[in-house]
Amino acid sequence: MTTTLITGANKGLGREAARRLLADGHDVWVAARDPEKGREAAGALGARFVALDVTDDASVTAAADHVAAQSGALDVLINNAGISGGLLRPEATTPDDVARVLKTNVVGIVRVTKAFLPLLERAESPVIVNVSSGMGSLAVTTHPERLESGLVGFAYSPSKAAVNMLTTQQAKAFPGIRVNAVDPGYTGTDFNDNRGHQTVEEGTDAIIAMAKIGPDGPTGTFTDRNGPVPW
Ligand code: NAP
Repeated sequence: MTTTLITGANKGLGREAARRLLADGHDVWVAARDPEKGREAAGALGARFVALDVTDDASVTAAADHVAAQSGALDVLINNAGISGGLLRPEATTPDDVARVLKTNVVGIVRVTKAFLPLLERAESPVIVNVSSGMGSLAVTTHPERLESGLVGFAYSPSKAAVNMLTTQQAKAFPGIRVNAVDPGYTGTDFNDNRGHQTVEEGTDAIIAMAKIGPDGPTGTFTDRNGPVPW
């Protein structure tokens, strides 16, 4: 059975990805920083729960040890946990605001991937999916016809641009693992006070597609539910 761990899976896109992959027969770990919310989600879905705060070394190490003891290996890691930082006005954004968003969205992926690397290396054809955003694309955020070009921010967009670069670097560093970034698209979740126009099912299409790629699947790519996204 395919063992899959999803960070930030107690709600939103992470929870929907857990639901869909369970339906596809994956053995899913719902990872969440809040044990109460995580246990509730895992219980409702029929998944396993592990406490994991992507900003905390001890929490991530303990989660990797727990999954290693229970599952032995990890086939699919979905780095989904993320924060918007409030999409503050640029002139009001402080260095600390930017650092906080980078700490979760970028350093969190580095920390979680490092801790789970030994488990991924024990899997037959391991996969990492990094949940990025069109807001992290230089091409999309400067294309006048794209919604993302009308938004300006010093924290979230730079963090997701870093996730994209991290993805191509991880793909080169780990040739035995297929590592891809995905843009869910603007999806109604707590992240945007449910203003996104896509359903969570639509928002998880790219995540699910990349979680299910076979051993000959791509690596170092950036896609949304319609196909490749320009960097
Ligand atoms: P969401 O509903 O706000 O869920 C975010 C999840 O991340 C929650 O489970 C949250 O946990 C978790 N999280 C935040 N900080 C964490 C930490 N330090 N450790 C562990 N978990 C943490 O947002 P979403 O829309 O599902 O977003 C999921 C991902 O998709 C994010 O990376 C986001 O940037 C990306 N994305 C979303 C959209 C969109 O339109 N929704 C578009 C493009 C990209 P708590 O419940 O404890 O806060």
